[in-house]
Amino acid sequence: MKLSIRIFVACLLMVQSLPAQEKKLRVVTTLNYLKYVVEQVGGERVNVTALANPKQDPHYVTPTPRMNQIANDAELFIENGLNLDLWAKNVVDASGNPRIQPGNLGHLVATLSVPVKELPTEVSRAWGDIHPQGNPHVWLDPFNVKIIAANIADRLAKMDPANTEYYRQHLAAFEARLDAATFGEELLQAVGKKAGDILARKAKNQELIEWLKARNLLAQLGGWMQTAQRLNGLKIVSYHKTYVYFTDRFGLDIRSELEEKPGIPPPPQRRDAIVEQIKREGIKIILNDNFYSRDAADYVAGKTGAKVVVTYLDVGAAPELDTYEKLISYLIAEILQADA
Ligand SMILES: [Zn+2]
Repeated sequence: MKLSIRIFVACLLMVQSLPAQEKKLRVVTTLNYLKYVVEQVGGERVNVTALANPKQDPHYVTPTPRMNQIANDAELFIENGLNLDLWAKNVVDASGNPRIQPGNLGHLVATLSVPVKELPTEVSRAWGDIHPQGNPHVWLDPFNVKIIAANIADRLAKMDPANTEYYRQHLAAFEARLDAATFGEELLQAVGKKAGDILARKAKNQELIEWLKARNLLAQLGGWMQTAQRLNGLKIVSYHKTYVYFTDRFGLDIRSELEEKPGIPPPPQRRDAIVEQIKREGIKIILNDNFYSRDAADYVAGKTGAKVVVTYLDVGAAPELDTYEKLISYLIAEILQADA
C-alpha cells in the first residue's frame, strides 16, 4: 500500500472512532456561572455558550441578533429563572427554535427546587420590586449550586440517556470539589461517609461550629467555612439585595441596602438615612456590585469612613475568576481585607 493510501485509511479509522465526540450537546446558558456548572457536570459531552457578559447587570441584558442566532442552534437552553434573566424569554422567543421553548426538554430553569428567600408579599409587589418571585441571587450560596448542578445533570441525562452514568460521575466529582472548598478536605475525611451532606445540614441549621466543637473537630475545619469564621456577625450594607444567600451562608449581617426598593436608585433622603444607620451601628463595609453606580456608596462612605468594596458576582467577570470556587473565595477575601 502506498503511504498516501495508508494515511487515508488511518484517517478513515480515526473518523470512525470519533462519532461519540462529534455528538456534543449544544447548550446555551444565560449567565456564566451556569455555563461553568454545565461544563463541570457535562464534561466532554457538552458545548456550552453563555449569552450575558459576566460584568453586566444580570437583570438587564439587551438581547442581540447574535444571541438569537446562538439560541437557534441550541439543543438545551438554561436560565437562572426567578425573574432574574427575564430577558432570556425574548431570546428564546426570537430564536425560532421549537426545542428550547418552555415546557420542552430543551428548556431548563436551573434554580428549580432551590429554597428561595424573600418571597414577596402583595404589598412589596405593588411597590415595583424587580424580585417578584423572591430573591434570585441564589448562586452565591454553594449549597444552592449543588442543587442547580443536580438539576442540570438530571436534564443532561434525560436528553442523552446513554451517558447517564457519565453525568452522574461528573456531578459527584463536582459536588466533592464544592464540599472540599466549603469545609476542607481534612474535615470531610474525619467525618467520613456522607460528610458533605451532614456538614451542610449542620451549617443550614446554624449549628456547624457547636457540632464540630462537641466532637473535637473544629481544628479540622477548612475551606470557606473556616476562612469565613472571621466574618461571623460582621455588619455590612450592600447596594442591592445581592448577598442574602451569601451572607446567610457565611454568617455576615446585612443591616441595610442602599436601594430602598430593588432596582430603584436611592433618593437623597435614603442615603442620609443610611449614613445615620452606619454611624449608629458602627458599620464599616459597603458592598457595591460592579455594574451599579457607586455614587451613593461613595457619598455614604465620605460621610462615615466606611469602605466601599466593589464586587463581581459572576464567574468570568475578571480573568482570575474563571471558576465558581474562585468567585466565592474572592468575595470572602475582599470582605476580609476590607475588615482588616
Ligand atoms: Zn437582584
